[in-house]
Amino acid sequence: MTSDRQPTSPIEIEGGAANARVRSAQATQLTSDFVDHLMTLCAVSTDLATTTEASRDWWPHDMHWALEGMVTQRASIVCRPTDTEEVSRVIELCNLHRVPVTAAAGRSGVSGGSIPIHGGVILDMCSMHGVVSVDEESGVVEVLPGTFGPDLESHLEPFRLTVGHFPQSFDISTVGGWIACRGAGQYSTRHGKIEDMVVALEVVLADGTVVRTSNAPAGADGPDRARVFIGSEGTLGIVTRAWLRAHPRHADQWRSAWSFGSFDDGIEACRRIIRAGATPAVLRLYDEKESQRSHGGDGTRSYLLVLDEAHKELVAATKRLVEGEFASLSARREDDHLVEKWRSHRNDTSGLQALTRKGFVIDTMEVAAPWSRLRQVRRDVVVAFESVPGCRLASCHLSHSYIDGACLYFTFAATPGDATFDATYEALWNAGQRAALRAGANLSHHHGVGLNRSRFMDEALGSEMVVLRALKSSLDPNGILNPGKLGL
Ligand SMILES: Cc1cc2nc3c(=O)[nH]c(=O)nc-3n(C[C@H](O)[C@H](O)[C@H](O)COP(=O)(O)OP(=O)(O)OC[C@H]3O[C@@H](n4cnc5c(N)ncnc54)[C@H](O)[C@@H]3O)c2cc1C
Repeated sequence: MTSDRQPTSPIEIEGGAANARVRSAQATQLTSDFVDHLMTLCAVSTDLATTTEASRDWWPHDMHWALEGMVTQRASIVCRPTDTEEVSRVIELCNLHRVPVTAAAGRSGVSGGSIPIHGGVILDMCSMHGVVSVDEESGVVEVLPGTFGPDLESHLEPFRLTVGHFPQSFDISTVGGWIACRGAGQYSTRHGKIEDMVVALEVVLADGTVVRTSNAPAGADGPDRARVFIGSEGTLGIVTRAWLRAHPRHADQWRSAWSFGSFDDGIEACRRIIRAGATPAVLRLYDEKESQRSHGGDGTRSYLLVLDEAHKELVAATKRLVEGEFASLSARREDDHLVEKWRSHRNDTSGLQALTRKGFVIDTMEVAAPWSRLRQVRRDVVVAFESVPGCRLASCHLSHSYIDGACLYFTFAATPGDATFDATYEALWNAGQRAALRAGANLSHHHGVGLNRSRFMDEALGSEMVVLRALKSSLDPNGILNPGKLGL
């Protein structure tokens, strides 16, 4: 398969990428011998515009600084390996010379995960793209890490298969990035998160060793090795190939829109149908503010969108169950067309850029919590954001549900006023993230940790950090893989 899909620039750099000023002083200097050696291993680029662009992602903090002509850091060189052998040789050389290597793919990460904070090498994975094989009988697809969402799904279409992973960033993100960040798609209530879709991985370790994990559908042969790398954000190894589960595609669909007297009532409705065993592909509940902003609500009711896509018998059963439960909760039926309206705009990413250009401090924070904690998490986080001077907006929706809980996704915006942009941005994250942790939520549901959330890792993970640090020091003893991320 051929594709010329490239990473999408988050926002223009004022004055041009080649002229961008670097905000962080501490970059690794590369010797000319080292660079000459790299050039013999794979395609590389050292021109300033290319290395600058390759050193940034969609982290809203850096999008603001791009408008001021700045980037956080710039790698010295971009390597573009085309196969596992090239990745292995590049990593082995970097390890020998203690040079930092940061993998980057779609660069749609929103936490600064692919920013090479210590400079060094950017390993651009986009040249390793395409579907290698499809096991139609088992429903397993072997795919290279730099494959963007639309290319994966269009390859599977003739087989009537789908992986079912549709993040909002579907068009601008890759399989390797999904795995590295432990992402979630909009149809996750039916298909699960990316960790539920991975059968096996091929990974290049920091010394260049290539590892392939077991491709059995399930096992009891020790801890699951593939899962060590899922969510490791390029700090433990480089994903060079993945085997993903693919489901039959179904034409049968059911869409319905509802509203509730409060967000809390809506949470109870979602909990009841999920606990009863229904798994509609999409289940999205918006608080009163988001219902008004996006779905025509009057600011007093909370809107819920349901979309199912499965075998017709399953769709019919889901419909019966949902309608029965919602009737007993006095839900109001709204115009089902709201679901189609959401579907047709769901991957529109222009809002973030527009508000950033207007000077707003704007970002989103997603966390997961058990059903029993969700209401408290939502209340405490909104109050915490609103307590930060300059806060203009704090709203929430529920977007991914599980048998024991769900993801809450907060949107917040502020105008810095007398404070600096950085101070306001940091104060918002400190307030929101810590309120979420205190109320019983985790650190992140699907955006990952990157640079932005590194400072919260110890307080969020506690004793689990011992495991993460031990993995890091044994798999990457020289700390060359994406240093400065995941709180490591
Ligand atoms: C508008 C918008 C909407 C979004 N919506 C969603 C959403 O609905 N769900 C969701 O989960 N995320 C979402 N995201 C976040 C982002 O798209 C995901 O985190 C995505 O998985 C990143 O993929 P990428 O290819 O762009 O990776 P990059 O941003 O290039 O990299 C992300 C991280 O993965 C590492 N990495 C990349 N490739 C590899 C590899 N092959 N091996 C090892 N490490 C690697 C990088 O070092 C970095 O740490 C959204 C982002 C934007 C901008």
